[in-house]
Amino acid sequence: MRRRTVRRIALYVSLALFPVTFYYLSPYLIILGASEGIVNGSFLVFSSMLISSLFLGRLWCGWVCPGSALGEICSRARGKSVRIGRWDLLKFLVWIPWIALIAIIAVRAGGYSRVDPFYETVYGISILAPGAIFVLFGVLLLISGSDLLIGRRAFCHYLCWMAPFMVIGGWFGSRARTHLVKLKADPDRCIHCGACTRNCPMSLDVEGMVARGDMRNSECILCMSCVDACPVKAIR
Ligand code: SF4
Ligand code: SF4
Repeated sequence: MRRRTVRRIALYVSLALFPVTFYYLSPYLIILGASEGIVNGSFLVFSSMLISSLFLGRLWCGWVCPGSALGEICSRARGKSVRIGRWDLLKFLVWIPWIALIAIIAVRAGGYSRVDPFYETVYGISILAPGAIFVLFGVLLLISGSDLLIGRRAFCHYLCWMAPFMVIGGWFGSRARTHLVKLKADPDRCIHCGACTRNCPMSLDVEGMVARGDMRNSECILCMSCVDACPVKAIR
């Protein structure tokens, strides 16, 4: 209960701060920065996501991301599960050309020569930049629109440009066994009540993962809802 409350508070604080922080998560400003040879805020944040996921998997998505907070709110209005598995690769269709574009632009600009974490913000605050309010509404509309139209966490599964950094980092972390936070299952304890699967915000077949004794899943955001939901503590 305490863990659930802490997580919820963390997510809602992050959402409340989104007008301040959204330029640091911008997929556009990293391109603009590359064209001027500037390592900007989103470059630094995305790099931190990649590195931290070697140790923490997608903990960011479950506990910090403002988009995740909005996803939780939308899933109360529309809790329908979305298609997962191969469909989760959809986000890479945008992510790969985007990363290639950043690399090409950076090379053509002669490489990076300056670091400016507050690039394009006003005193470090995103919303104070001219026109920023329209961008903010656009992003909020994209996240809530896809979740409400398609289903629970559709944005996280199909469209999020940040998730691939952590999917890739998490994959390497799990192979290199560097994960500090991970789920463990005890299949012998399971009574097959299905509570873990029903409570998974990412629509994962958690009961199946427990049965296989393998809790690794690139879409797991380590929210620990399944841990809290299990009546016999088969997941920890
Ligand atoms: S498997 Fe458990 S920890 Fe992972 S996203 Fe689902 S409920 Fe959260
Ligand atoms: S909630 Fe626990 S007991 Fe129920 S299916 Fe999941 S792992 Fe098994």
